[in-house]
Amino acid sequence: MGEDMVDEQKRTVAVVGAGVIGAAIAFELQRRGFQVTLIDKGEPGRGTSYGNMASIALDFAAGSGPTTWRKIPGWLLDPEGPVWLRPSYAPKMFPWFLRFIAAGRPSRLRQIEDAGMSLSRRALADFREMLSAIGAPDLITEEGCLAIYETEAEFAGDRGHIEMMRRYGFDFEVLSGAAIRNLEPALSPSIAKAVLLPDNKSIRNPYELVVKLADAAFALGAGFLSGAVRNVEKSDAGTVVLLDNGQRLTVDSVVFAAGVQTRVLAQKLGEPIPLETERGYHTQIMKPGVSMRYSVIWPHRAFMITPTAGGIRVGGNVELAGLDAPPDFRRPRVLVRHAQRAVPGLQVEETTEWMGHRPALPDTIPIISASSKMPGIWYATGHGHLGLTYCATTAQLVADMMIGAKPGVDMVPFRIDRY
Ligand SMILES: Cc1cc2nc3c(=O)[nH]c(=O)nc-3n(C[C@H](O)[C@H](O)[C@H](O)COP(=O)(O)OP(=O)(O)OC[C@H]3O[C@@H](n4cnc5c(N)ncnc54)[C@H](O)[C@@H]3O)c2cc1C
Repeated sequence: MGEDMVDEQKRTVAVVGAGVIGAAIAFELQRRGFQVTLIDKGEPGRGTSYGNMASIALDFAAGSGPTTWRKIPGWLLDPEGPVWLRPSYAPKMFPWFLRFIAAGRPSRLRQIEDAGMSLSRRALADFREMLSAIGAPDLITEEGCLAIYETEAEFAGDRGHIEMMRRYGFDFEVLSGAAIRNLEPALSPSIAKAVLLPDNKSIRNPYELVVKLADAAFALGAGFLSGAVRNVEKSDAGTVVLLDNGQRLTVDSVVFAAGVQTRVLAQKLGEPIPLETERGYHTQIMKPGVSMRYSVIWPHRAFMITPTAGGIRVGGNVELAGLDAPPDFRRPRVLVRHAQRAVPGLQVEETTEWMGHRPALPDTIPIISASSKMPGIWYATGHGHLGLTYCATTAQLVADMMIGAKPGVDMVPFRIDRY
């Protein structure tokens, strides 16, 4: 048995949540010798992981900076802007915003960037290894991502991020004029500047990735249980997972990877976490009338255009409106109009629209941690805008901690008891 395997008799684990985080963890634990049961109230991959923008975005960016707080009042005013705070939800967001502003202090910001980059540095290698282990190396594209800027002022507005990439030795190249269209002819001549991020690969189909991860775990012997987890409790035999449908499962350990819903489960264990939904939208265009090689991000407008297996996907932006408010599909339609400005040949035929809930913590970095209240409980949540990017790395780190191996990353910044 290798050092990275569980060294007792097969230990049993329930992984709650079959999104990209839970499915990656289920696969990783099962291949390390645990006996896993993956639990979801729906089908694997139908939560937020279904419709993300498919980007392995290694250029970690903290959500809050020293002056971000000044923008918050403006977020209340424009329902079609890149960030919208629904006025009726604003009072509920208040405690989260206090923590968000505190996370933007320069000293704290540097710690957050260090932590984010400690995951980013290894995320692509972990991702590739995971894909080849599940027999799906072709799910990743080899082209990188282009960040685009219509004006010099927009480019200057992103200076802080570019400086951060330089500071962390992140590979990028600044392009102007014709050089941009040489790389991606579909882009409009009105795009004045671009930054090529060669390592920011994308995934052809994020939903298929989750399904393949879960199937790979099942092929190794993992089980699946359908139902909503209500709570967990200790018994002499271990930890009992209680489901809404009356089922009970007794295991040695439980990993909570239920996306934004992990908040409810943590609250029940007496360790509340400030997990909010940053809602985001996409439009999948099955007949775009144009082909693209690179994924494109427009930082000033906070959205992406990604070529995927099923056409071109346009999406992003942030809506702060809680879990229950109905989707407001005006927002993705604005993004499609912006996308047509960047990619003039983009036609909008045969489309579907979608909304998902990014599990967002105020300091941007996830919780990857043992419970501070109940032995045998683990958390992997709060990946915000980067759950796809960090899924393989998160799975490795959780598995390392669970078998008592030293993870190759300082895990202190990701602990649940930082709140
Ligand atoms: C518009 C948009 C674009 C994005 N683009 C990118 C991108 O390009 N790159 C990137 O890295 N990230 C991106 N993200 C973020 C990424 O999608 C998320 O961080 C990631 O999907 C979170 O995965 P998860 O497994 O934690 O949650 P989910 O995918 O939501 O999975 C959670 C699962 O838990 C289940 N569940 C919840 N509660 C219970 C319960 N009580 N019992 C049983 N099951 C339960 C749910 O049914 C669900 O299947 C984007 C997000 C959005 C919205």
